[in-house]
Amino acid sequence: MAHLFCHDHPETLELETIVVDARPGRVALGQSPFYPGGGGQPPDRGMLRWQGGEVAVTGFEYDGDMLWHLLAGQAELTGAVVAAVDPGFRSIMRQLHTGTHILNAFVHQSFDGALVTGVQMAGDGTARMDFDVPGADNDKIRVLEPAINEVIANDIAVVFDYVPMAEAQSQHGLIRSRSVAPPPTPDGRIRIVEIVGLDRQACGGMHLASTGASAPIKILKIDNKGRHNRRVRIGLAGLLPSP
Ligand SMILES: [Zn+2]
Repeated sequence: MAHLFCHDHPETLELETIVVDARPGRVALGQSPFYPGGGGQPPDRGMLRWQGGEVAVTGFEYDGDMLWHLLAGQAELTGAVVAAVDPGFRSIMRQLHTGTHILNAFVHQSFDGALVTGVQMAGDGTARMDFDVPGADNDKIRVLEPAINEVIANDIAVVFDYVPMAEAQSQHGLIRSRSVAPPPTPDGRIRIVEIVGLDRQACGGMHLASTGASAPIKILKIDNKGRHNRRVRIGLAGLLPSP
């Protein structure tokens, strides 16, 4: 994965940039504020505004290192554009994604280094995580909810850095899942996201700058998916429909 602008500038939701390549219904930009999806986090939504009007961005497609922004309709853009990320959707994803790391940290600690086998976030403010926890008592997962919310209440910094791939692979617990870990950068390094004092793991998604910016997390449901796997569904408390 190319180094993404949004990794270093998660707060920059609008960017003036230029069209560097275009086909009907798709465009490549000089710089893009969008997260194109991956690691269980769906792609950003948003708009491009240019002289001729504005158009919704409906998806992303990599062609080598080139990131195509797929557009609603067949507009062919040229020149200067403003790329604008949907702020509400981005905010939900950053909160949920940070929440999945906190849950992951406690499951990893409580169940002897249990690994993630899958993760999927959704625009409605819910996410599911699958863990490889043979024979786990679901009540022992359910009781993690107050600990998760204590981390949120304590407003702990979330930081990132890049370490060489070989170093990441040699440090136990840094790579929690093949399906979630990002591919290395062109110079062979991997992005490590740390909730300071709690958790460090390889990840290429979008997180909060500190945990206190998240709504409280609820553990909604735990399903057994086979003898080994537990599927844990979480949600952002403020976004859930009232019971
Ligand atoms: Zn992450």
